[in-house]
Amino acid sequence: MGYFSDITRGLSTAVKGLTVVIRHLGRRKVTRQYPEPKNEYILPERARNRLYVNMDDCIGCDKCARACPVDCIEIETVKSIPEEDLGVTTRFAKKKSLWVTKFDIDMAKCCYCSLCVWPCPTECIVMTEVFEFSEPKRENLIYHYATMDAAEAELHRQNRANYEAQANVQRAKQAADRAANAPAGPPSSTPPSSPPPSAASPWANKGPKH
Ligand code: SF4
Ligand code: SF4
Repeated sequence: MGYFSDITRGLSTAVKGLTVVIRHLGRRKVTRQYPEPKNEYILPERARNRLYVNMDDCIGCDKCARACPVDCIEIETVKSIPEEDLGVTTRFAKKKSLWVTKFDIDMAKCCYCSLCVWPCPTECIVMTEVFEFSEPKRENLIYHYATMDAAEAELHRQNRANYEAQANVQRAKQAADRAANAPAGPPSSTPPSSPPPSAASPWANKGPKH
């Protein structure tokens, strides 16, 4: 008995499945051939996705890195020397005085909180609309935004070190000159000390008499 009921159930299941298939044969296909139709989604305003840094406007202030709760931003800077003019930022015309020798964001650690975006004084770090950026290797998710190579960074470090060394020599020389040209002071002598009140003072024991 169980044998025939199993056959009946199997046949009815197959018929049900085929009915569904036949019903959908003439309908519009809904399967998305990902990843070809990429821009099908309209992202909500202020969606948080991949970060981008416009290094032309970065002044190396480090505010974004300090705001990051997971420490995934690493910035290194070198002070420029007076002979170097780094110009101003395109937004807000802020004067640039630091060479940004390293600006890395580890997007594998990023939690997309956007806390780095708000404190930026030149609005050069932004969330983009790019959300598809998977990588087979984690290290590929460390984005290097600094625009200079290691040789140029080393050159700026060296320039700064030379400038500071020269400034130190100059300061030491000026201090030595000042010391050499300082006017000679009066010969040191012990100032006469005021005499202790004498018991023989005419005013001693001259209080009112009673
Ligand atoms: S979005 Fe958040 S976690 Fe990602 S880099 Fe900015 S502050 Fe750090
Ligand atoms: S806050 Fe903006 S200007 Fe300052 S270091 Fe970060 S990206 Fe550059």
